[in-house]
Formats: sequence, C-alpha cells, structure tokens
Amino acid sequence: PTGSLVDMVEDAVTRFRRKTALQFFGEATSYAELGDQIGRAAEGLRRLGVEKGDRVALVLPNCPQHVIAFYAVLRLGAVVVEHNPLYTARELRHQFEDHGARVVIAWDKVAGMITDFPQDLPIDAVVAVDVTKAMPFTTRVALRLPVPKARSSRKALTTGSRVRGTTAWEALVSHGSLRRKHPRPDGADLALLQYTSGTTGSPKGVMLSHTNLLANAAQGRAWVPGLSEGDEVFYGVLPLFHAYGMTLCLTFAMSIGATVVLFPKFDVDLVLTALSKTPATFLPAVPPIYEALARAAERRKVDLSGIRFAISGAMSLPVPIVRRWEHATGGLLVEGYGMTEASPVALGNPIGPTRRPGTVGVPFPNTEIRVVDPADTSVEREPGEAGELLIRGPQVFSGYWKRPEDTAAALIGDGWLRTGDIVEVSADGFVTIVDRVKELIVTGGFNVSPSEVEQALMDHPDVREAAVVGLPRESGGEDVAAAVVMQDGTVFDPNSLRDFCRRSLTAYKVPKQIVQVDELPRSLIGKVLRKDVRERMLAG
Ligand code: ATP
Ligand code: MG
Repeated sequence: PTGSLVDMVEDAVTRFRRKTALQFFGEATSYAELGDQIGRAAEGLRRLGVEKGDRVALVLPNCPQHVIAFYAVLRLGAVVVEHNPLYTARELRHQFEDHGARVVIAWDKVAGMITDFPQDLPIDAVVAVDVTKAMPFTTRVALRLPVPKARSSRKALTTGSRVRGTTAWEALVSHGSLRRKHPRPDGADLALLQYTSGTTGSPKGVMLSHTNLLANAAQGRAWVPGLSEGDEVFYGVLPLFHAYGMTLCLTFAMSIGATVVLFPKFDVDLVLTALSKTPATFLPAVPPIYEALARAAERRKVDLSGIRFAISGAMSLPVPIVRRWEHATGGLLVEGYGMTEASPVALGNPIGPTRRPGTVGVPFPNTEIRVVDPADTSVEREPGEAGELLIRGPQVFSGYWKRPEDTAAALIGDGWLRTGDIVEVSADGFVTIVDRVKELIVTGGFNVSPSEVEQALMDHPDVREAAVVGLPRESGGEDVAAAVVMQDGTVFDPNSLRDFCRRSLTAYKVPKQIVQVDELPRSLIGKVLRKDVRERMLAG
C-alpha cells in the first residue's frame, strides 16, 4: 500500500508539534492540538456510523473545524465531499442527491436547512459548527465546555421514517481519540469528491484519490524554490471548499508544516490588519484580490514585501494587475493554471525572473501536455497554433462521480485529460489560455473567440469590463453579443462601440448586440459566468 493524506498529516503533527498549524481570528492551534482534534473528530464520526468509503459532506466556511473535519473523515477511510456553504437549498440539494452522504458537518447557519431536506435523502446526522465559538482546542479546555444536547429536527420526528439528529461540534469531539489501530486508507482510495465550479454547466463531482492529492502537493513542493519547512505562513483567503484553496492551504501547506491563517471570506481590512500581526509568506489568490490589496497597500502605505509567493489561478490574470502588485509589494505575482479534475494545478510560471506575465507558464513537474484539434483529438497542433489542451500526470482524476459518459468524454487514451480549454504554446513551451471550447461562438462557418472580442471592447477607454457570448439565430448559428460595464462618468453608445470594434475586428466578429450592465455575473471565486450573461441576454 502507498501512503495517504492521513500519513502525511500525522507525519506533520509529529515533525512540527509545537508549530502553529492554524490561526483564526487570533486563536492559534498547534500541530499537536490539530492531531489531537483530528483523532477526536474521527472517533465522533465513527460513533455516528461513518465507515470506510462513506461520503461525509462538509458544508463549511473557512474555519479550524473545516480542517479538522477534512482529515478526520479521511482518517476513517471515508470520502470528504466539499460544498459551498453559500449555495441555496436547491443547489445543495442537487449535490446531496448526487452523492448521498449520510453524515453532514455544516455551518450552523445552514444546518437547519439541511436537516429539513426531503426525507428521501439518506441524511442521518448533521453536526452543526458554530464558527464564532471560542475554539476548545486543547483537551483541558474542551472538557470544561458545556456539551449541548443533541436535538432532532421536528420534521424528522413527525414523519417518523428517519430521525435526523443534530449534534454540536463540541459533542462530536468529546469522546476521546480514535484507536490507533483503526484501519487507515491507502493511496489508491478515494479521498475527495470535489465539485467543479459550474461555470459551463451544472457542477460535476470529481473523484480524487489520496495519491492524486499527495501528488499535487509534492509537485507544488518541487515547483516552489526556497521553501522553508515549518516557517511558511499561508493566508487562506480562498475558500477551502474549492479545489484551489483546498490544495494550497490544506494539503500543500500542511505537508511543509506551514501556519495557515484562515479567513472566512476575503476582506481587505481584515487581511491588512492580519498582515501587520502575522506577515504572510504565501498568498494564493485570484486577480480581483491582488488588485484590491495592491490598491489598498498603495493608498495606506502598507508593506507587503514579506509575501514571497503570490500565486494567481482559476481565471486569467491581467498583466496590469501583475505590474501593480509587483510595484506595490516588490515581490512576484505569478500565474498558474488548473482545474478541479487535476487536483487542481497542472501548469505554473517559474517563480523567479523567467516567469512570463500573460501566460500560465509551463507544465508542473511530472505533468505532460499535448495541444490538439478539439474536433479530432488525434490531430496535434503545431507550436503557436491554437488547440485544446490535454494533460496527463499523477494529479489527474479517475472520473466523475456517477457520470460515466462525462468521464469517457473527459479521459481519453492513456490517461489524457481533455481540459476543454483552447491554448497556444510558444516555441519555448509557455502556455497561454485563450478560451473555453464550450464558449467559442459559432457564427456560421467561422468560430469567434469571445476573449478576442472582449479584448477589442476593453481596448476602448470607456469600457471597464466586457463579456461576449453567442446568441442563437433563427436561421441557425449564433450572433456575437456583448455585455459591457462602462467606466464611471462615461456615456454608453452601442453604435460607437461597434464602430470602434470594426477597426480591429473582421465584420463577423463585431457584436451585433451590445448591452450595458452595472456588473458582470461572477461565481463565488470570481469567475465571469458567460453562461449567465447569455441567459440574461436571451431573457431580454
Ligand atoms: P465547470 O467545469 O463546472 O464548467 P470550471 O471549469 O470553472 O466549471 P474549475 O475546475 O474550478 O471549474 O475551473 C477550471 C477552469 O478554470 C479551467 O478549465 C479554465 O477554463 C479556468 N482557469 C483556471 N486557471 C486559469 C487561468 N490561469 N487563466 C484562465 N483560465 C483559467
Ligand atoms: Mg471545468
């Protein structure tokens, strides 16, 4: 048997015992306390009937219990299923119908909503987490805390078919630690069901094994120069329920004994205040976060020079934000690329002078890439020619949960993953992301790249942001259409914007329709949702 994430975290607990593992609103948890709490939570979950292979749903914001629950579920050989705690009841219910978890660990704000899910869902127990409670981390403190009584939901009692108990987190961890001899998972076991962002369709459950996740953490260690084990400080501003924040802050960070400072959401003031007390060395984030922090740092003359590794991903990083960040901090801001199906990181810029803004860099260690014709993946593209990116490596997933057709479409040949992204590779191997295959606009013979049209619109000084989509035409094919956000104090005139586009775009690429919006719809992590723009434009 090969190693698992459980071995990884236990090793970190042994090697970095006295180091701070987590920090949350000024409260610190050492690696020793983390290990103790993982053992306790695992015992609590065992008593709730969790067994190897069971799915356990986490519906939590970033908080220490999120980290403890993650590793406690894995310790039992069970499978963590991550959820966005801000999803609506309908969105969450779809995911619960998909994975069928019996035990849920949820933010207390949403626990009641889950308890009330229809009775045909197999949910037996909901553990409610109050993130504002002082953390009972050491055994001594935990014993002094009153243990709230478990209560059952009214609905469950009246229907009688299934009694859903709600337990407080403090009760879950009150039983002492799991026996050391309790069987552990091995590398090939499923560790995580991670839903995709749902940018192009409904979210799909990605099956990731312990080996997949360990591989991505190891690739990260090999990629970042000058890592100092036990000394790095990661800022967890990205949600842990998304693949990007999970790998950077949960597996990679803990594998090097880092301190993870957790934030329930990104807030400029909160982050700047925290930076003045516990400086970060690692700040994985997304472009809007770097932009906001760089702006605030300039205005308030805050020193961000301690941040050595700023790593942007999930969406394209505009070069002006790179310049602004590097000017404000004196450090580097480098871009990487990934997708949930690749645990998630697959490409990254070298962290050093050879990094190339505007590109997502080169393949991660042990990762191979190919660029092919999306209409026929057996046809390879020449360097410089755009095509669909395929990737292969130990971090690539084994399939979508209960979606054999999607799996067969995504995993082709010998373990190659179709990314669905159109890229160009320079002669010296740097990759630029151009578009998503699904979002290319078919106007009748010609394909139009939405990002090319968006760029043409944003070249206009009055346009702040643009999203370009295809709207179905009665005669077949699609028309190019755009939604724009104008700069403050400017006048929106679609005809003059179209004239402006004609200077740089061939006629068929010029948007037939342009509408003005106050802001573009974005996913929780900040991606522009072109499919929502399209729906809104179709609705008029
Ligand atoms: P869904 O698969 O449900 O439609 P999603 O693809 O947005 O949603 P994720 O797995 O979170 O879900 O995101 C992966 C995608 O994010 C990639 O396929 C790519 O399109 C985009 N992406 C990631 N990094 C970058 C980057 N640096 N630049 C541009 N796009 C990126
Ligand atoms: Mg995707």
